[in-house]
Amino acid sequence: MGHALEAIYPYVPVWAQNLGISLFGLAYRRERLGGEFDRYVAGFRERDRWSKERMEEYVATELRRVVQRAVEQVPYYRERLTVGGDLPVTPKADLRARGAEFVAADCRGRVEFYSSSGSTGTPVKIAYTAADHRRFMAAREARSFGWAGTSIRRPRSMIGGRRVVPSGTARAPFYRYNWAEQQVYFSAYHIAQANVADYVAGFNKYRPELLTGYAYSHYLLARMMVAQGLTLEYEPKAAVLSSEKLTAEMKRVIRQALRVRAFEEYGAVENCLLATECEAGRLHVSPDFGVVEIVDAAGKPVPPGVEGRVVCTALLSEAQPLIRYEIGDVAVWAKEECPCGRSQLPVLEEVVGRLEDVVVGPDGRELVRFHWVFMDLPNVVEGQVVQEAVDRLTLKLVTREGFGAAEERMIRERFAERLGPVQLVIERVSEIPRTERGKFRAVISKVKRP
Ligand SMILES: [Zn+2]
Repeated sequence: MGHALEAIYPYVPVWAQNLGISLFGLAYRRERLGGEFDRYVAGFRERDRWSKERMEEYVATELRRVVQRAVEQVPYYRERLTVGGDLPVTPKADLRARGAEFVAADCRGRVEFYSSSGSTGTPVKIAYTAADHRRFMAAREARSFGWAGTSIRRPRSMIGGRRVVPSGTARAPFYRYNWAEQQVYFSAYHIAQANVADYVAGFNKYRPELLTGYAYSHYLLARMMVAQGLTLEYEPKAAVLSSEKLTAEMKRVIRQALRVRAFEEYGAVENCLLATECEAGRLHVSPDFGVVEIVDAAGKPVPPGVEGRVVCTALLSEAQPLIRYEIGDVAVWAKEECPCGRSQLPVLEEVVGRLEDVVVGPDGRELVRFHWVFMDLPNVVEGQVVQEAVDRLTLKLVTREGFGAAEERMIRERFAERLGPVQLVIERVSEIPRTERGKFRAVISKVKRP
């Protein structure tokens, strides 16, 4: 949303918010589904039928093209790479600290930026062009939505992190409607026992066929629906869920309450990888979107069945090519091929450690993601939320010089707004320890739950 609209958004009535979101949606739709979108979709669909050899050949050609172009156009890589030489790993810290040097020179003037603080609180600035955006969306249309038997052009819903419902204490409805995209957008921040009926009413009113957004939020909602004996009064076509791991138990509860099969989608804000669950229930990487490697501490590929760090190379991003970028996830290649026969799209056995702890507020509201805590706070390096008791949280912060009282006040306001009256201790630390698997945990809950 534009800044002017965003500023007045919280103060206008629901119908005006719906209108604002729809106007934004109209522009957004043009950007994502316009231009050569259909041709890109056709390309992904065609490669769905390719042999393994043909895909490998295609990916190798694309990789050469991307590296060549990065050396010519991207300041960061011009300095670090030579055509035909070794390709070192690109640490996430480099993109964070030197973001501008990753933007391709021949794209300047037509890039847009998306700023993501990510669940770890470390902001990353992502650059993309309109064509990039269409390519990313085309891949999801063909693979994620297409395999699930539906389309982005069908009525859909989203449970996500956009603050469509302004305040933590706001009253129903906890969703807004975007006419332009036939999309109903539910707040991820208000899922609580007392609000469940309103969420269900939103689904029944707009009847989205495709459910998208945070996996864990859908599970929370479904679980609360089960507890209250509620189900949707219609059957959506599919749910394509991301951001957190989707377990068998989560799928079962979602099926029971939301009456839909949930498919897992694994992606990244950096748009350097995409993996999608097929009808056989396995998670296939799309190498024609981004090449995924799983490597050990020395940067060498690990065999199937062994955990390693995920390193990916974006093939579709002309604005900000990322080569062997370390995404910060740990994953495992599957040992067996998938019965669906798409052997050109390799299968991930598991993405480890994306399932984070859940924080439950005193009023029963459940939150799983805290990226909003760190939004627009450039002096926060990273942060970790620890729930000590139902009404007591500790926020561990690694900060840069310049972090002060104003920022601390802002963080406190954000917590109060979203979790209600909780006691918050802000603890400044020099580093946040990783787990033994090397994973950063953004949220830790010490509260015992039934
Ligand atoms: Zn498959």
